Amino acid sequence: MSGTVTFSCELPVLGEYDVFIAGGGPAGTAAAWAAARCGARVFLAERSGCFGGMGTAGLVPAFAGVSDGQQLTCGGFGAALFEEMRRADGFGNRNYAIRPEILKRVYDCMMTDSGIDFVFEADLIGVNRNGSRLTEAVIHTVAGPGAVRAAVFIDATGDGILGALAGADFELGDPAGRIMPSSLCSLWSNIDWQAWRDSGAAIFDILKTAIEDGGYFEQPDWHHTGMAPAGETTACGNFGHIFGLDPTDFRARTRGWIEGRRLLPEFQRFYRERVPGFGRCELSASASALGIREGRRLVGDYRMVRDDYGSRRVFPDSIGVYHYDIDIHPYDNSLAEFQRFRRDFCEPANILAPGECCTIPYRSLCVKNCENLLAAGRCIAADHDVEAAIRVMPVCFVTGQAAGCAAALARTDGDIRQIPVTVLQQQLTDLGARLRP
Ligand SMILES: Cc1cc2nc3c(=O)[nH]c(=O)nc-3n(C[C@H](O)[C@H](O)[C@H](O)COP(=O)(O)OP(=O)(O)OC[C@H]3O[C@@H](n4cnc5c(N)ncnc54)[C@H](O)[C@@H]3O)c2cc1C
Repeated sequence: MSGTVTFSCELPVLGEYDVFIAGGGPAGTAAAWAAARCGARVFLAERSGCFGGMGTAGLVPAFAGVSDGQQLTCGGFGAALFEEMRRADGFGNRNYAIRPEILKRVYDCMMTDSGIDFVFEADLIGVNRNGSRLTEAVIHTVAGPGAVRAAVFIDATGDGILGALAGADFELGDPAGRIMPSSLCSLWSNIDWQAWRDSGAAIFDILKTAIEDGGYFEQPDWHHTGMAPAGETTACGNFGHIFGLDPTDFRARTRGWIEGRRLLPEFQRFYRERVPGFGRCELSASASALGIREGRRLVGDYRMVRDDYGSRRVFPDSIGVYHYDIDIHPYDNSLAEFQRFRRDFCEPANILAPGECCTIPYRSLCVKNCENLLAAGRCIAADHDVEAAIRVMPVCFVTGQAAGCAAALARTDGDIRQIPVTVLQQQLTDLGARLRP
């Protein structure tokens, strides 16, 4: 059975705000914080039961690309969050390695203190549009669907869901249609970190021997990001690639969860038998958010491209800087593809030297053909290569913060293209953002 049906119903209006944000990950929380600081009334809808997105529900092990090796890249929200994390012992004794339960509470406090209105277990399911202007977002909660009115909307869903629902154009994958693999991150206990450090071993060497010996993995995967401390005896694991998953295909995502969970016991055996300090390690939990490295990239007024990265272009409408490699994970589990990945990773054109940064133009947040829709986080307008650098969480803080600030400035007439960029840049600087390398 196939075809289409029409489903229409009257919805309660849940409220009217200056800014509506879908998604409370790194980008959405930064956007909410900045918009509130700039005087806007903000509503944030988060589908899960916590803020932080991949950094909490997704069990991603650490903040990457926090500084350019000399200075912090993500001043403002990022700096404030790191300060709170340090105060709460959220990094333990390792720089920017995440203790996820502490990070969840840090976000809770920061969002509560910011004065925004937010709802967990609130899934964005639709938008109303009048010409090029969005008028309402439809969310689904335990009470059923309801509408939220706003002057400006921000897509911080990671997957570009708000943009897609609004009919915005998007790109997916590289020019050949290949999409980076996903991973289901995991939480591990019973680890003797001291024994691991004392061993001086390198995880890749151990993995290579295990793959060559055989018997551990149904489909050996050469690229292994590894475990990072999430506490005295615990770790977050970032491994187990799920290849060829189209994150816009709900059936593929369902298979992805199954595959991600299938891989983890293989790694448990490998770690227990081969890795010093992990002899008694135990898989405590798999993440409650599937680790999608790349999804929709919404078409914006400007698309950041590889040459911009290569030339370290400084955009006149820069809203922030970033410092991270073009980190494109292997597209399949062959040794040849892993070797391609390693070559690329060592290629100077894909790496920023200490002190070097790239900038992000405001135009890459402005979703094309929508007067009042901004993108933030990993769904902003960039080509496949640049997305592989701007996807890390500190950069999502940068674009989220800028989107929040811009939305607050645009709240009076609801046109994100009419705001003076110099005023936006001044407000971002006042919040602590760094706009130049
Ligand atoms: C396996 C893996 C490992 C990674 N490792 C690192 C790392 O070590 N360091 C690093 O800095 N970065 C890492 N990254 C990248 C980084 O975690 C993400 O790119 C980043 O979190 C994206 O931020 P975001 O705010 O755009 O989206 P997300 O973090 O995905 O947050 C989006 C939020 O929106 C919510 N949402 C989605 N749809 C809806 C909806 N319809 N309605 C309401 N809410 C919705 C989600 O629940 C989520 O909370 C990794 C990514 C992956 C997948």
